[in-house]
Amino acid sequence: MTTIPARLQAVRARIAAAARAIGRDPAEVTLLAVSKTWPAEAVREAAAAGQHSFGENYVQEGAEKAATLRACGLEWHFIGPLQSNKTRAVANAFDWVHGIDRLKIAERLSAQRDVHLPPLDVCIQVNVSGEQSKGGVAPADAAALAHAVAALPRLRLRGLMCIPEPSADQALLRARFAQLRRLKDQLVAEGLALDTLSMGMSDDIEAAIAEGATIVRVGTAIFGARRAPPARHPA
Ligand SMILES: *Cc1c(COP(=O)(O)O)cnc(C)c1O
Repeated sequence: MTTIPARLQAVRARIAAAARAIGRDPAEVTLLAVSKTWPAEAVREAAAAGQHSFGENYVQEGAEKAATLRACGLEWHFIGPLQSNKTRAVANAFDWVHGIDRLKIAERLSAQRDVHLPPLDVCIQVNVSGEQSKGGVAPADAAALAHAVAALPRLRLRGLMCIPEPSADQALLRARFAQLRRLKDQLVAEGLALDTLSMGMSDDIEAAIAEGATIVRVGTAIFGARRAPPARHPA
C-alpha cells in the first residue's frame, strides 16, 4: 500500500517537474494538503513528512483538527463554501480563507477575527467556468469585490482562487487558469498587492502551475480517495 509520505513525495515531484518545464522555481509553488474527511492522525503523518499547510472544507471538522494538532504549529486554510453563520469559527480557527465571493462574508470575517491574531489571509474565488452551480464571483464583478475586501482592516487580500469544471482537455484548463492569472495581473496593475493564485487540484496541477499557480490544493493524490463528508456537520 502506498503511504502518505510516499504520495506526498510523488506530488512534490510532480510540482517540481511542472515548474521546471515552464522555467519556474518550484519553491514558488506551495503545496496545500487537502485533509478534509481524513482524521487528525493522517494530518500528523503528513506533517511528520514535512508538510506544513493543510486545507479543510468543513468548519467544525477543520477547527477540531486544528485544535487537536495545535502543538504541531501547522497552517490551516479554509477552502470550502462558507455560510455567514459559520464565519466566527472560521475567522479564529484558520489562517487563510480561499473562497471569498461576497462582501458580506468578508466583512463578518474581518469584524470577527480576534484582535490578538494577525490579519486573516484571504483569496477571492472567481467562477471562471461560468457554471451556475459553482461558487465564486463572476469575473466581471471580481475587481469591485477585490477592492472592497482589500480595504477591510482585519483581512489581508492575498489573491484569487478558482475551481474550474473538471476536464481532460488541457487547453481548456490552461485557458481557465490563464483567465485567473490575467485577472490577478489586472488587479495588481490597479494597485492591489496580490501574490497568490490558488489553483490546481490532484488532476490538474500541471496546467495550473504552467499558468502561474502559487498554491495548489491537493487531496486525493496525497491521502487517497475521500471518505464521505462528515454527516453531522454539513458545510
Ligand atoms: C477537495 C478540494 C480540493 C482537493 O481536491 P482533490 O481532487 O482531492 O485534489 C481542492 N480544492 C477544493 C476547493 C476542494 O474542495
